[in-house]
Amino acid sequence: DHLPDTIRDKVANHPCFSEQAHHYFARMHVAVAPACNIQCNYCNRKYDCSNESRPGVVSEVLSPAQAVKKVKAVAAAIPQMSVLGIAGPGDPLANPQRTFETFRRLSEEAPDIKLCVSTNGLNLPACAEEISKHNIDHVTITINCVDPEIGARIYPWIFWENRRIRGVEAARILIEQQQKGLEMLIERGVLVKVNSVMIPGINDEHLKEVSRIVKEKGAFLHNVMPIIAEAEHGTYFGLTGQREPTAAELEALQDACAGDMNMMRHCRQCRADAVGLLGEDRGEEFTLDKIDAME
Ligand code: SF4
Ligand code: SF4
Repeated sequence: DHLPDTIRDKVANHPCFSEQAHHYFARMHVAVAPACNIQCNYCNRKYDCSNESRPGVVSEVLSPAQAVKKVKAVAAAIPQMSVLGIAGPGDPLANPQRTFETFRRLSEEAPDIKLCVSTNGLNLPACAEEISKHNIDHVTITINCVDPEIGARIYPWIFWENRRIRGVEAARILIEQQQKGLEMLIERGVLVKVNSVMIPGINDEHLKEVSRIVKEKGAFLHNVMPIIAEAEHGTYFGLTGQREPTAAELEALQDACAGDMNMMRHCRQCRADAVGLLGEDRGEEFTLDKIDAME
């Protein structure tokens, strides 16, 4: 039982972490971050970031001003609205101006709403200080490996210091930045959750090592999600016939990584523009044209 009381209090009423709270508190994501700075073999850019988002329909990309307007309209319509996340459709920290402008405006205009952000971690060290200045409840980093040889099978390239880098070197830099970013957030007192995508035959066994390391460094939750590799989504893994884990394999790995962290089992891999209670998506009710019509 490794969670300090301060963290326990924070997660107890958070829809994404508490089995109980997710029936009573609603969350929404706003899709303000179109660009991404890496390529994951499980990604399909036609859909939302697969870090945290179930492939579905591509999100309507919003400007920060439109996002704030949408959050306020949703909060007025859904009184349980308590958490606002930025999770895509690309990588939020690859779009730092858009992401932080949205947070800055929301802290001023809707101070009661908790904020969270997810990232692949490449640009996290550069953003850690800024993150710690906003009232951000927690950061989610997707960490699929700590070994560059494994990473090279998951990430074909990254875009780093104005050039494209491939292979093991790319994975090495990404892993280094993720770990450094994780440490910087912990040092600054920001809660960190780690997501991992389970890819059978590539990182499934390795994720136990990932879990041990990120918990040791202070991540409060490690959430293992299954890869979605359907050929019709056109992902590299989908096209190469990468299989998805069975329910039993996923559960066994989640058990192995869980510890006190098993409260994350109900993560639904929501879309980058999800709205409502967990398990429901009312995004269609709050498209921009409908929000404009509400005025
Ligand atoms: Fe796609 Fe997200 Fe990976 Fe970027 S970080 S390539 S948007 S899955
Ligand atoms: Fe919560 Fe997971 Fe949905 Fe994000 S994707 S809002 S963490 S349930």
